[in-house]
Amino acid sequence: MTECYYISQNELPAVLETVSGLMDVWVPLKTGTHKTAIEFAPFTPGCRPIFDRQSTSSPKSVLFPQSETLFKFRYLKDESDPTRQTVALTDLEEIRPALVFGLRPCDARGFLVFDKVFLDGIAKDPYYAKRREKTVLATLACKTPDSACFCSSVGSGPGDRQNSDLWIIPIDDGFVIEALTEKGREVLPRFGKPAGESQIKQAEKVQKHIDGLTVGKADLTGAGSEFTRRFTDTEFWRDQVSKCLSCGMCTFNCPTCYCFNITDDAHGLEGERLRSWDSCMFNHYTREASGHNPRPEKYERFRNRVGHKFSYFPERYDGMMACCGCGRCIRNCPVSMDIRQIVRSLKENADV
Ligand code: SF4
Ligand code: SF4
Repeated sequence: MTECYYISQNELPAVLETVSGLMDVWVPLKTGTHKTAIEFAPFTPGCRPIFDRQSTSSPKSVLFPQSETLFKFRYLKDESDPTRQTVALTDLEEIRPALVFGLRPCDARGFLVFDKVFLDGIAKDPYYAKRREKTVLATLACKTPDSACFCSSVGSGPGDRQNSDLWIIPIDDGFVIEALTEKGREVLPRFGKPAGESQIKQAEKVQKHIDGLTVGKADLTGAGSEFTRRFTDTEFWRDQVSKCLSCGMCTFNCPTCYCFNITDDAHGLEGERLRSWDSCMFNHYTREASGHNPRPEKYERFRNRVGHKFSYFPERYDGMMACCGCGRCIRNCPVSMDIRQIVRSLKENADV
């Protein structure tokens, strides 16, 4: 381990408070009136971040807000010729640097999926790119996977350091934090003091334990050919998804779902263009202006979601799954749909 700092649990709130004076700091918190829901929210003095279990919603909203103004516009009439109009646009808003502290390896992998689409695709998304460039991901090595997690089944794991800037290893009374990137190295000296030999030894032991965990028994990669084979098996898909309510919760909480809708909110001659999350599980998601809907039935929408994550995306991006195995869609589905079981059914003999 190189460039490691140690910070005790007691010191952490004060350090996060200091860092929040320099950049926006997002931590997992219990918010609202719900007793158990945890979401990433701005750190405020006195708040109590929750690190012992996964957040209910993913931290994707930090880099991809649920609803954001892309720009504001104003139509200007040419007074000498009222039939002519021009449009004035405001610049992009200034993005503040940010630190996401305490996300899980599966969440960091979720941003890898976003990076493929919003940074490496045919067009770079300027809104995501600006936030991404200014955001430090400080990932907590995952000691507490639960029965819904299956990160090892999709090519990752609870010790996966990919796509993180800082790597946080929980030890007895605090955290050993290692810088993995240049962005991480810049922030690291804010976190306590260089780790001592015994703290590094403890951290290495924890890391070894985490690296040895297999979370999710079946290999769910490489399901593309089975998906294609089953594509027209309408009975199979109807049977698999019969209890789904099309509520969209699975996609909104998913760290790898990135679909959005664009709307203009205008009043008179001025307004704003908004980008808001959308869900492929909604009936109107694919409805066209003519009224025609190419995926009118629930099974067609669910089949598309499974196909996107386990077949189309890996086909396009060198085998990478568009599912990080975080288990949120399983844990939070009101009718206990389990995407693992569906992929397992595609692969028939696998044991999830
Ligand atoms: S959360 Fe469950 S019920 Fe809701 S759309 Fe997703 S699978 Fe269907
Ligand atoms: S599909 Fe489910 S398990 Fe996979 S990344 Fe999305 S929420 Fe997590």
